Amino acid sequence: MSFARSTHSHKVSFLVDKRYQKGMSQTPPPFQVKVVPVTPFQQNCSIIRAPSGVAAVVDPGGEPEKILKAAEEFDARIEKIWLTHGHLDHAGGAEAIKRATGASIEGPHKEEIFWLEKIEESARKYGMPGGENCMPDRWLDEGDVLTLDGLEFKTAFTPGHTPGHVVIYHEGARIAFVGDVIFAGSVGRTDFPRGDQQTLIDSIISKLWPLGDDMQFVPGHGPMSTFGKERQTNPFVSDAVLARTPR
Ligand SMILES: [Zn+2]
Ligand SMILES: [Zn+2]
Repeated sequence: MSFARSTHSHKVSFLVDKRYQKGMSQTPPPFQVKVVPVTPFQQNCSIIRAPSGVAAVVDPGGEPEKILKAAEEFDARIEKIWLTHGHLDHAGGAEAIKRATGASIEGPHKEEIFWLEKIEESARKYGMPGGENCMPDRWLDEGDVLTLDGLEFKTAFTPGHTPGHVVIYHEGARIAFVGDVIFAGSVGRTDFPRGDQQTLIDSIISKLWPLGDDMQFVPGHGPMSTFGKERQTNPFVSDAVLARTPR
């Protein structure tokens, strides 16, 4: 369903800002993140846990039982479900998590509705039982704010991989959840209906790069990276590659 080249399994729980671990700040970390790869696509579902235990789940694409168990082990109470886009491996488990927890579903942008309405069809096609069509409680658009127990996350509208893709980030903690826009060393596929490569590249340059080189990101698949590292090394969107690509 997405760029599935990098599929090594990794289960990480990390403090979102390494400066806190180095003792450079007296401020306690604003939240913790646990990444749980789900579905045969090894999609990175992130559990964001505020200090009080209240949590948001980003892209619960499937295996809702595994996500709920991970949340329990993390002592996290899921109150929000945030979706970057409507693909099966990102949104297929959202309704099940909502039923189990009462959490509201926020995102993606309303242009994703055609994908959200055919999750079950995609699930049959890919032989992934359990994926459910999904209807968000709130659509997101550029600049929208998402709240979690007093924490504020922001939305960037980043079409290209899909027409209503959004990226969710926390400015102060320097972390972004980018779905299938960009990966460590790659970018999202654009050969799906209504995907567009130039739109994707424009989204990356105009919406992600301005967030700063030190912004870490959790992609939909594979290991984390930073925007600065991708600007140096990504074979699709590094500064050097884009400088010699006619636009
Ligand atoms: Zn994906
Ligand atoms: Zn996708």
